[in-house]
Amino acid sequence: MNVAPPPSPRGRPVAAARRVAFDATDPPDPRLLDACVHCGFCLPACPTYALWGEEMDSPRGRLWLMRMGVEGAAGLSPEAVRHLDSCLGCFACVPACPSGVAYDRLLAQTRQQVERRFRRPLAERWRRRLLLAILPHPRAIAAAMAPLRAARATGLLGPAVRSPLWARLPAAVRAPAELGAAADTERRTPGGTPHSGARPRPRRPAGGRPRLRVALVTGCVQRAMFGPTAARAARVLAAYGAEVWVPPDQGCCGALEAHAGHPGAADRRLRRLAAQLDAPGIDRVVVTAAGCGSHLKGCAAERQGVPRGDAERLRRLAGRTRDLTEVLAELGPPPGGLGPLPWRCAYHDPCHLAHAQGVREAPRAVLRAIPQLELVELPEGDLCCGSAGLYNLTDPEPARDLGARKAANVERVAPDVVVAANPGCQLQIAAALAARGLAIPVVQPADLVARALAARPASGPSAPAPLD
Ligand code: SF4
Ligand code: SF4
Repeated sequence: MNVAPPPSPRGRPVAAARRVAFDATDPPDPRLLDACVHCGFCLPACPTYALWGEEMDSPRGRLWLMRMGVEGAAGLSPEAVRHLDSCLGCFACVPACPSGVAYDRLLAQTRQQVERRFRRPLAERWRRRLLLAILPHPRAIAAAMAPLRAARATGLLGPAVRSPLWARLPAAVRAPAELGAAADTERRTPGGTPHSGARPRPRRPAGGRPRLRVALVTGCVQRAMFGPTAARAARVLAAYGAEVWVPPDQGCCGALEAHAGHPGAADRRLRRLAAQLDAPGIDRVVVTAAGCGSHLKGCAAERQGVPRGDAERLRRLAGRTRDLTEVLAELGPPPGGLGPLPWRCAYHDPCHLAHAQGVREAPRAVLRAIPQLELVELPEGDLCCGSAGLYNLTDPEPARDLGARKAANVERVAPDVVVAANPGCQLQIAAALAARGLAIPVVQPADLVARALAARPASGPSAPAPLD
């Protein structure tokens, strides 16, 4: 699928960055850049290269741009920023690289330089600021979604999205509305999803003998858009034998800001959350959003200016963090087993779980344990769905093209349900399926496992009480 890449932004480098791209504050590390031998093995893994077939929109091309900047051969031109901005940060190129190039670290170093040294057009600057002001706060997300909810409740949203006028609106306006409209996707699960409160209880005892004590991170987008899923995650963990603690008033982990090139703001949020989660006796910190999970697992990386106590806390947090599916796979099927779900289920690998954390088997093992569930693999399963943090809001056209490609691959395997272990992917794929006219529900592992727990026979000596 070779479609035209987006035009370059009309912004300009700040005066000093016209000739010298990067300043001395954490520029791309030349030693990391030296690891690239230009072999091109990463190219087939890259979603933007798959879309446009442009060398400069591949990992190798972007590394070349970083090198040009580091060597002072080129400043931060709008074209260079366009190629760097187009990167989804999906990190499919990292495991694909035989030389072990740390593209993830290099991209983080480059992005914070771009944010400081490139002046985007006013409207773009404000759009990014607004997104970063809203998304780390579940209440702000809920308030921003209120008009959409009202439009959905009155039945106006569906006809509006399908009208010919809708397609004429700018993609930046359509994208949040289409994503918001997709938020009720889990309600379409065959047989419905088990009733659940909108938020998890602060404490939930283990369903039988406690085998682990876990703290559950509820996440910002997860809590605002999929509150019942977060509540199901707590109940599923308890049913598998974990004692669950949900720290109150959790803040954001800072993953979105880190991804967008604002490490200072991201670090402040991270250290606050680390303090909230640092309770004695906690064996695991459980995360249900892949981007937050990879951010927390990587939070022990060396940082300058972090007090020693904070650094130790971050090391503890990184060591304890696990994806929900890793903990469920570790605990094994719950006492009383799981009820049957006779559905064909396609599992989508979120990039920040599969590529950034290397977690591929655990979600599949958890789903395979559900009787009668037929697990199928998606064609081009390693290709990003276009969600990628803020990407589907800041770069809606390429995100929509990748979403359409994912939806076409879902249609090829004709599942009853799609499972994505990340709320961002869940919204993105649900919106792409809706745009293709497909009413296939997209859920998270916690939703499906909760459904399997609710499907157990009610009687039986070892069967724990069904979920409420
Ligand atoms: S990043 Fe790795 S795979 Fe890609 S060109 Fe460089 S060495 Fe080869
Ligand atoms: S992070 Fe993803 S989009 Fe960016 S260069 Fe690597 S593979 Fe391509």
